Amino acid sequence: MRRVRRSMSLLRALRVALEMIEGTLASHDELRICYFLNAVTAGEVSSRCQKYFRETEMKRYVTVAIPVLFLITGCNGGGDVSVPVGLPEDAETAAEVITASALLETVSQIASDEMMGRGPGTEGDRLARAYLAQRLEAAGYGPAFGENGYEQPMSMVGVTTELPEEWAFRNGKGLGISLHLADEFIGGSGVQHSAAVVDDAELVFVGYGITAPEEDWDDYKGADLEGKLLVMLNDDPDWDPELFSGERRLYYGRWKYKYEIAAEKGAVGAIIIHTSLSAGYPWPVVLTGWSGEQFELPAGDEPRIQLKAWMTEEASRRLFDFAGRDLDALIEAARNRDFSPVPLGLTTSLDLAVDLRETETANVGGILRGSDPDLADEVVFLSAHHDYFGIGAPDDTGDTIYNGALDNGVAMAQAISVAEAFSALSEPPRRSIMVFFPAAEEQGLLGSKYYTEHPTMPPGKMAADINFELGNIWGRTGDVTIFGKGKSTLEDVLADLAAEQGRYVTSESTPRSGWYYRSDQFSFARIGVPAIWFKSGTDFIGQPEGWGEQRYAEWIERNYHRPSDQVEDSWILDGLVEDAHLGFRLALTVASADEMPTWYPGDEFEEERLAALAE
Ligand SMILES: [Zn+2]
Repeated sequence: MRRVRRSMSLLRALRVALEMIEGTLASHDELRICYFLNAVTAGEVSSRCQKYFRETEMKRYVTVAIPVLFLITGCNGGGDVSVPVGLPEDAETAAEVITASALLETVSQIASDEMMGRGPGTEGDRLARAYLAQRLEAAGYGPAFGENGYEQPMSMVGVTTELPEEWAFRNGKGLGISLHLADEFIGGSGVQHSAAVVDDAELVFVGYGITAPEEDWDDYKGADLEGKLLVMLNDDPDWDPELFSGERRLYYGRWKYKYEIAAEKGAVGAIIIHTSLSAGYPWPVVLTGWSGEQFELPAGDEPRIQLKAWMTEEASRRLFDFAGRDLDALIEAARNRDFSPVPLGLTTSLDLAVDLRETETANVGGILRGSDPDLADEVVFLSAHHDYFGIGAPDDTGDTIYNGALDNGVAMAQAISVAEAFSALSEPPRRSIMVFFPAAEEQGLLGSKYYTEHPTMPPGKMAADINFELGNIWGRTGDVTIFGKGKSTLEDVLADLAAEQGRYVTSESTPRSGWYYRSDQFSFARIGVPAIWFKSGTDFIGQPEGWGEQRYAEWIERNYHRPSDQVEDSWILDGLVEDAHLGFRLALTVASADEMPTWYPGDEFEEERLAALAE
C-alpha cells in the first residue's frame, strides 16, 4: 500500500514536470510519458495527454506503455527516455557493427561479376549461397537445415517456351490480325509438358477477372469459360476507397491471381493487358520477367492453364479495334459490379514447343539460438532473397551480367550486418533468430514458398518475418515506408523505434503496385506469420519535395531487373545503415517481448495465424 502511495506521488511529480517541460521534448517522448501516466493513474492525465490519446491509435498503448513503465521505474538504469526502450543495455554497442563500409563490402562481394548475376541453378547461384553460409557461420549462426547444413535444397522446373514471332487472331469473317513478339506480347507455357496448346480458342473479355465474395464482386457471373482464352485487366478496382482497399493493390490485382483463377475457371489460357499504371512497372520489366527460362516449383495436381500471356495496351487496342470493340467502353463496363464476360468474336490457335529442365537451387539459413528456454523455440526471421537473373540479354552498353546490387545485394548486406549485431550482444535475445536467404524470389517467391510449405518448425512457432528487399542508396530519409501498411502490430513497434531515430512511418507512395505481395514476406503471411517489409521512404533529408519519388521512378525505369543494377560510386549508404539499425532493433524487440506480434483484427491473414497458433 505504502509502495503504491509512493509511486503515486512520483506520478504526480512527473505530471507536473510534463506540464513544465511542455514543448521541450520530442513529441514521441511526451507521448511516452503520457502513456505511462495513463497506465498507472487510471486516466488521471493532463489535457495535453488527452489530446495525444485522441490523436493516437490505442493499439500503440501496449507497445509503448509497457517498455516505458519498465524504463521509468528504473529497471533500465535511469530515466533517459531517448534510449530505445525495452532493448538490452548493450544493444547500442552491438549495433555499431552495422556500418556503411560493412554494407558496401558485403554488397560488393554479392553483386560482383564473379557471382555472375546469381541466376537460380547456376554456378553463380552456388557461389553466392556458399558465400552467405560462410558469413552466417562466421557470425556464429548454426545451420538451419539439420543434416543439410545451411542449405535447404529444392528442385525447380525451368520452363522455356518457344513463342512465335507473330501471333495470329481471326474474326468471324475469316479475316486475320497478328501481334508481334516482344513489342506487343510476351508469355509462356502454363503447363510442365513438352507442348502448350491453344486450339481455336475463343477470346472472352472478363474485366478484372476477379471473384471476391467479401467485396460482393464477381466478374464471371457463372459464364462457361471452359477452353476459352480470357482477356483481363491488370490490377484490381481502385477508384473507390471502400472497394478492394482503394488504390492499394491486393492479391486480386496480381498477375499470379489472374492466371490461377483462369485455371480454376477451366480456361485454356489468359492474356493480361499491361499498362505501366496498372502494373506499377513499364513493359520492359514484363519482358525481362517473361523472356527465357521461367522457373516453377514442380507441378502438383492444381489446375493449370496452357498459356499465360501479356499484351501491351497499344496491342490490346489494336486487337479490340479489329474485333469491332471499344476497349475504353469495355474497361468502363468492367468498373461495375453487374459486368459480365464479353466474347470478342475472335479465335486463335497456338502450338508451342516447351523445353523442360529440372534444376536445383537452395534456400540458405542460419540460426542463433535464443537464450530463454521457454521462448527459444519461437523464431524471428530476417529474410532477404539471394537470387537474381544471372547472365542474359545485353543492355545498350553490351553488359550481360545482371548483378542485382540494389535488388537484392544491399538487402542481403543488411541482413548479414543485423545477424552480426545479434552475435555481438553479450547474450542472444530470448527468442531465436533465423537469418534466411530464400532462393528464386524473382521467379515468383519460389524459395520462400518452398520453405513455408516445407518449414523446419511449425508456423505457430514463427514469431515474425522481417524482410529486407531493395534498399536506399540516396541518403537518409525522414520517413520509413511500410509496404501494405495497416497489417500487424509489428508496425506499432516499428513506428516507436523509427521515432527514436527521429523518423516517421508512412505507407508506400505507389499502393497500386501491390508490393506487399511481391516479396518474401508474403510467403510467410500466407501461412499466417506476421510479416513486414519496410525501408527508407521518399522524404530525403535536405532534398526538395518530390526528389525521392523521382529517384525511385528513375531507378525503376533504368535499372530495375536490368544489367545496370550494379554497385556505383555515387551511392550514399547512410539511409541503408539507418534502416538496418531499425531492422535490428525491431527484430530484437520482437525477440525479447513477452508475446509474439499479431495481425490487426480482421486482417486477411489473421484466420490462418489463429489456426497455426491453435496447433
Ligand atoms: Zn528483389
